Amino acid sequence: MIPFLDLKAQYNSIKTEIEEAALKVLASTQYSLGPEVKAFEGEFAGFCNSEEAIAVNSGTSALHIALLAANIQPSDEVITTSHTFVATVAAILYAGAKPVFVDIEEGSMNIDPKRVEAAITEKTKAIIPVHLYGQPVDMDPIMALARKNNLVVIEDACQAHGAVYKGKHVGSIGDMACFSFYPGKNLGACGEAGIVTTSNSKLAHSMRMLRDWGAERKYHHVLKGYNYRMDNIQAAILRVKLKYLKDWTEKRRKNAKLYDENFKNCCVKVPKCHEFAGSVYHIYSIRTSLRDGLQKYLTSENIHTGIHYPIPVHLLPAYADLGYAKGSLPLTEKAANEVLSLPMYPELTESMIIEVCDHVKRFCNENVS
Ligand SMILES: *Cc1c(COP(=O)(O)O)cnc(C)c1O
Repeated sequence: MIPFLDLKAQYNSIKTEIEEAALKVLASTQYSLGPEVKAFEGEFAGFCNSEEAIAVNSGTSALHIALLAANIQPSDEVITTSHTFVATVAAILYAGAKPVFVDIEEGSMNIDPKRVEAAITEKTKAIIPVHLYGQPVDMDPIMALARKNNLVVIEDACQAHGAVYKGKHVGSIGDMACFSFYPGKNLGACGEAGIVTTSNSKLAHSMRMLRDWGAERKYHHVLKGYNYRMDNIQAAILRVKLKYLKDWTEKRRKNAKLYDENFKNCCVKVPKCHEFAGSVYHIYSIRTSLRDGLQKYLTSENIHTGIHYPIPVHLLPAYADLGYAKGSLPLTEKAANEVLSLPMYPELTESMIIEVCDHVKRFCNENVS
């Protein structure tokens, strides 16, 4: 059996360190925020080359407080992509604003910067580019449009810890960037956690209040805030894991390269990355019009895969009221029908990758004339 993701392999490789860090916090009895959170904020900001980081309890909370700190109001519009995890869009709605979708680039499957300008209206206040699958969005044209139109840019970097765009770390390009430490992400907590990075001290100050009931100091609530605090125990665990992240990312890149090489002359399309994009391969997503058949075949051979994402957000029943009909984002909808995520994690072995590739090639040989 080849799993899609193997968190046990990673846990076993650093078990003692994780357990020591967690036990230390348990004994300290300081559980919500605390010294580990503070230390992790500094270390993660450093990792991203940003001035500050505000730790919260999920990637979704990170997006929510980033939008609030940017003073997004009901009736404002926020431009983003529909080819993303639902949380990107949900956070815009939590802030009371209206998500406006722009279609993707056929190759990278990220938001197409060339289509953004046409979506800007006098109500537009922010853009949320999503570094999907760990591949950075083409940020230069997006930042230029944002500066020209006075828009805030919030990177959704929930899948892109450590990704690099033209030498710059994601998390240091937009006005703010949001990361998730959901267990399956490239840097995963043992539970829920997230963070916002920024080099704008005013925004950082607002977000520190918003995550903790909007309080300037205890019981002095100057903003309508939330309980979005990070657990001290999660921060302690994340500090241990952050030390390994560069090494884990290198292993993901090596795995992706091996997949790429083995899929030459095969019926599936390998992920297309821009020259400038240092992807961290949170997900290795191939494309084929025979996706459903291929997935079924791989499952029958005990190779587990995923689909990110089978239904674009604008076509989900929950978001029908946003008013996007089928066919309104053709490239997004085409991608949703064709993408298939293959097993991808640092501990995946070369022989496992070869086995996956051999099965995919066998499927191609049998189904494509
Ligand atoms: C995981 C993810 C989120 C949400 O993060 P949570 O920690 O699960 O709340 C948001 N956006 C994207 C693109 C994600 O992959």
